[in-house]
Amino acid sequence: MSIAHNLGFPRIGVKRELKRALEAYWKGEQDQASLEAVGRELRARHWKLQQEAGLDLIPVGDFTWYDHVLDTSVLLGVVPKRFGDVHGSTSVAGGRTPGATAVTGDVDFKTYFRMARGRAPGDKAGQADTYACEMTKWFDTNYHYIVPEFEAQQTFRVASGKLFSELAEAKAMGLRAKPVLVGPLTYLWLGKTKGAAFDRLTLLERLLPVYAGILARLKTEGVEWVQMDEPILALDLPQAWKSAFETAYNRLQSSGLKLMLATYFGALLDNTGVACHLPVEGLHIDLARAPDQLTSVLDQLPAYKILSLGVVDGRNIWRADLERALDVLESAKARLGARLWVAPSCSLLHTPVDLAHETKLDDEFKSWLAFATQKVTEVVTLARGLNQGRAAISRELAASRAAVESRKTSKRIHRPEVKQRAQALGANEDKRHAPYAQRRELQHKLLKLPLLPTTTIGSFPQTQAIRNARRDFKAGRISEAEYRERMKQEIAFAVKKQEEIGLDVLVHGEAERNDMVEYFGELLQGYAFSENGWVQSYGSRCVKPPIIFGDVARPRPMTVEWIAYAQSLTKKLMKGMLSGPITMLQWSFVRDDQPRSQTALQIALALRDEVLDLEKAGIKAVQIDEPALREGLPLRKADWADYLRWAAHAFRVSVGAVRDDTQIHTHMCYAEFNDIIDSIAALDADVITIETSRSDMELLDAFVNFSYPNEIGPGVYDIHSPRVPTRDEIVRLMEKAAKVVPAERLWINPDCGLKTRDWPEVEAALGNMVSAAKTLRERLQR
Ligand code: GLN
Ligand code: ZN
Repeated sequence: MSIAHNLGFPRIGVKRELKRALEAYWKGEQDQASLEAVGRELRARHWKLQQEAGLDLIPVGDFTWYDHVLDTSVLLGVVPKRFGDVHGSTSVAGGRTPGATAVTGDVDFKTYFRMARGRAPGDKAGQADTYACEMTKWFDTNYHYIVPEFEAQQTFRVASGKLFSELAEAKAMGLRAKPVLVGPLTYLWLGKTKGAAFDRLTLLERLLPVYAGILARLKTEGVEWVQMDEPILALDLPQAWKSAFETAYNRLQSSGLKLMLATYFGALLDNTGVACHLPVEGLHIDLARAPDQLTSVLDQLPAYKILSLGVVDGRNIWRADLERALDVLESAKARLGARLWVAPSCSLLHTPVDLAHETKLDDEFKSWLAFATQKVTEVVTLARGLNQGRAAISRELAASRAAVESRKTSKRIHRPEVKQRAQALGANEDKRHAPYAQRRELQHKLLKLPLLPTTTIGSFPQTQAIRNARRDFKAGRISEAEYRERMKQEIAFAVKKQEEIGLDVLVHGEAERNDMVEYFGELLQGYAFSENGWVQSYGSRCVKPPIIFGDVARPRPMTVEWIAYAQSLTKKLMKGMLSGPITMLQWSFVRDDQPRSQTALQIALALRDEVLDLEKAGIKAVQIDEPALREGLPLRKADWADYLRWAAHAFRVSVGAVRDDTQIHTHMCYAEFNDIIDSIAALDADVITIETSRSDMELLDAFVNFSYPNEIGPGVYDIHSPRVPTRDEIVRLMEKAAKVVPAERLWINPDCGLKTRDWPEVEAALGNMVSAAKTLRERLQR
């Protein structure tokens, strides 16, 4: 019998119940007990749903108040010293580690949230030096985890009873529970060292006994299978880390529990041998991302081992092609027999909860989709088909076949003119007419900008008035004409402010944009929006990615009216503002029926028309934001070049048709450019603005070694902080920058958009920025 299991379920709740409860708790509007009640209810609901769908094994421990890596840190007692005495009386999720004394007790609830966000309810601002732990992206997803901090003297101990108490809850519901743990090597890999430099792999020896203890404890609780997540096996690993897998799992073998080693997000490739031969009972592989790895895994898998095949895509929202999945499963079954399990490719954390709550999408469209709840059913259906034959699931197969057929042929998806245009694109259409050096002269003649021009990144404060107007418009309380009028007033206000401040290149302020991807997605064909398609980004924060389902086309100009209006209000240069093709792709659910590069190119062509329309309307500078370019990098280095090639191509296609004297800007919210600097240069933007303030301009070093040819605006202050930078600070940073990049090629700007700030802060900061520019010009021109 093939078993159907799941690797993890979204925690947030279909109506984002966890978000609401957490935020009420943080504000002090709700106490810990009521927060815990919400968590308990969500766990029970999600377990029941999976049980009723027919899963054989149900994940436990995938629920978290904030982040599962933070839970792992707390479970293992990895709490940085700055959080002080962490053994409060109320432990994380109530469950106390049995037998724990006061001194070795559980990390308390408030410490947990201080680690996550720097403060807990009741803390006064700046009361204790408990700045939050760092947060970073979970592999190539949009989920962020809390980075574990290790010191050389790091010790480990079981410091949370959460996993055990949740297991007890699950058992009380009569579930066949499979606890989920972040494996020891992935856990160490994801962390960073603090203090004197040392190799965090050296901590493994100390860490393993604690893992062994946890497993022993789970064994006494009657657990049969434990899922050990080791997604780093899909990465390029140093040899020492590969070897450490053997050490680790040899040591954990003695628990007597069965371990399912879960890998996902990519192919095992050179780690296939390591993964197959570890002394564990089962291996899970991701066949959605890496279907080709099945053969080599089947070839290397020892004859005793269970193989779990992730055939239902846990990273996207498309309904599975059950027939194709069953073909794969049946051929594997011929080799494996009953040693074959069925699963989603990875945890369903990265998909929205339930399609049933979408009331605005039509039936045909919904027939193409599956959210987490539907994906669980797909997994169960596939296992049933495998165990009882195709006839047992004929109805489901027919529905899946119909969806596959309609996606193949639907006129809503396929626009021949879009495909043809992409295909017919000439080899030179992704190049500006003249090389940068010539464009630079033409632009300087036309634009007549001073040395060190000042500008901003695009957005100005999204005030309550702006949000109210949008809400009123969406609710039908004000007409479209009224809404547009109000947005124009906001634009006029932003233009006036910028003139008063004395900036050189102005922006319209993006008042009309709720979000930089959603705004354009709503105006493009081929994009759709869900009502409740929320996916956790970090903690209580969720995003609702647009769904790119079809060929992308632009029925009409998207920004021209706004930008032209803004330009009409001023003699200064007004910069047009667009979101780039890679960002539009990266922050959406994308099609799985054509390569991402193809979708990116279609978006680029739509943007190309928009850029030309802006130019026609008299706009002389256009910025194409690509904050997501870097995060699109594949997990394996070997795949980088290909990605960077098509990504840069798409960007250049979007701007390739403009006149030489039209100045193209781009913006990226980071500055780790060392490893991709040649691709950044290959974008051939006339001006790039980047984030450098937090690293004190050190990140500009990439630009020294490479000698980046075009103009650069290194961010001079961090817009994430309410702090207003002084003029002298900005002068100092720019003088530092001028040592690396000649002043003639430098711009002065903040490091990102200002939409989260308020006007008084913005005016003060930009005022100092403009006066710093004056000082610098005097000094440099002397
Ligand atoms: N133009 C956008 C803004 O200013 C850029 C946002 C971003 O880089 N994430 O808000
Ligand atoms: Zn930015």
